[in-house]
Amino acid sequence: MAGAFREEQDKFRDECGVFGIFGHADAANLTYLGLYAMQHRGQESAGIVTWTGQRMAVEKQMGYVADIFDEGRLARLPGHSAIGHVRYSTTGESRLENAQPIVYNTNKGPLAIAHNGNLVNAVELRAELEEEGSIFTTSSDTEVFLHLMARSRVDDVVGALRDALSRVRGAYSIVLLAKNRVIAARDPQGVRPLTLGRLRIEGAPDARVVASETCAFDLIDAEPLRDVEPGEIVVFDAGGTASASFAMGQRTAFCIFEHVYFSRPDSSVFGKSVAESRRSFGRRLALEHPVPADVVVPVPDSGVFAALGYAEESGIPYGMGLVRNHYVGRTFIEPKQSIRHFGVKVKLNPVRSVVAGKRVVLVDDSIVRGTTSKKIVKMLRAAGASEIHMRISSPPTKNPCHYGIDTPRRKELIASTHDLEETRKFIEADSLGYLSLDGMFTAFGRSENDSCAACFSGRYPIPLTLPDPQATLFPTDEPHADVSGERPAETFPRLVRTAKT
Ligand code: AMP
Repeated sequence: MAGAFREEQDKFRDECGVFGIFGHADAANLTYLGLYAMQHRGQESAGIVTWTGQRMAVEKQMGYVADIFDEGRLARLPGHSAIGHVRYSTTGESRLENAQPIVYNTNKGPLAIAHNGNLVNAVELRAELEEEGSIFTTSSDTEVFLHLMARSRVDDVVGALRDALSRVRGAYSIVLLAKNRVIAARDPQGVRPLTLGRLRIEGAPDARVVASETCAFDLIDAEPLRDVEPGEIVVFDAGGTASASFAMGQRTAFCIFEHVYFSRPDSSVFGKSVAESRRSFGRRLALEHPVPADVVVPVPDSGVFAALGYAEESGIPYGMGLVRNHYVGRTFIEPKQSIRHFGVKVKLNPVRSVVAGKRVVLVDDSIVRGTTSKKIVKMLRAAGASEIHMRISSPPTKNPCHYGIDTPRRKELIASTHDLEETRKFIEADSLGYLSLDGMFTAFGRSENDSCAACFSGRYPIPLTLPDPQATLFPTDEPHADVSGERPAETFPRLVRTAKT
């Protein structure tokens, strides 16, 4: 159904990471560290909310985790339970009130929510809720969860969440903070990752943690326990950990792109090491697209493990022919093409001694618009490479993601508008080879039927609901109040409904 989306609307844009902790005196500090480890999942805004025992304390702002939180700010977040969020969205929705966690005083008590993923029926649900009198204060699909919970006839927060989850469709790994508990839930298809862990505290019960990626646990010395199952709600409170299933037996749709690009290689995602997946993709790529060459060069950091696999399988030496400046953000998030072109140069520089006079196999995880690859090929040629053979450790990215990875619109995806030879010409490589879809899943060791590979195959495992072509997704241009991070927590809005209800 995606094809029926209007081109300019065929995309929800959001990339996020979530974190939650229950039962630790340093809940906010540990959340800060967890978010710091997951900065790659969203660089636009970050936020932490704690339950102080009396109220929700919240600090959120646009920017990087390390820039937002200092000692003073973390000191304003007392409490033994916390949730946090990092987010990236596009310019239109790039504003502080869309920063998460979203906090509301509801008829079920104060609630905060952090969400990774995208709902596919958010437009309809929002329209329906507004029709019934709900007033939204953000343009984010995440707010729908809270309105649905507030509308539930069940008083208990977990029961209300179950009600809400029976209405939403799409990808969601969510953490909620309520009075004295942290709740985690994952959509029935398990599109986005969500993992449980524990943090040992001497002489006290373990603190319990939940995060999008296990790299967040490593930094705080927490032990990963297991994934939140697709369709599972997990509750941490003083009584321990409780779990309930709200949807069972559905086809899973684990996002393969988490393994291709998005997750950190040192994380375990969907129970598998991301580094090892990438290495297997690289090995398979070498089998599918061999080429006589002198050196295998990764595009750092995204191509490193795949290049290692390619080098191992092909027997061609691995060489760090490109060095990355680590003080530059992901070029991809720069909003303007002009800046992005420049950005590649700022970020990557060739190592002449590794590539000069050499036939180079250049390995990256994906080609999106093609502009990065084009720049890199040019740079390597200028540094003296005699041939450049581009190898991509995933199939051509032809379709936008509707489940929570930021990809450009279809018409901006080079593989959707150009065939292989046209793409090769555009990036000016001597040859170009992509890993096949079958090859990727063979290397991954799982079936496409358990996964989501829609960005490659166009087969969307969760049917997309078409927005009304006349409607904007959520209004983004109306004037809005400045929701400064300094704002006292008590002033967070009550979740309101108008007299129409
Ligand atoms: P492009 O110049 O648009 O072809 O960008 C390709 C580069 O973007 C590759 O090096 C990928 O590692 C990276 N990339 C792929 N998908 C994403 C994404 N969703 N967000 C940020 N970067 C990405």
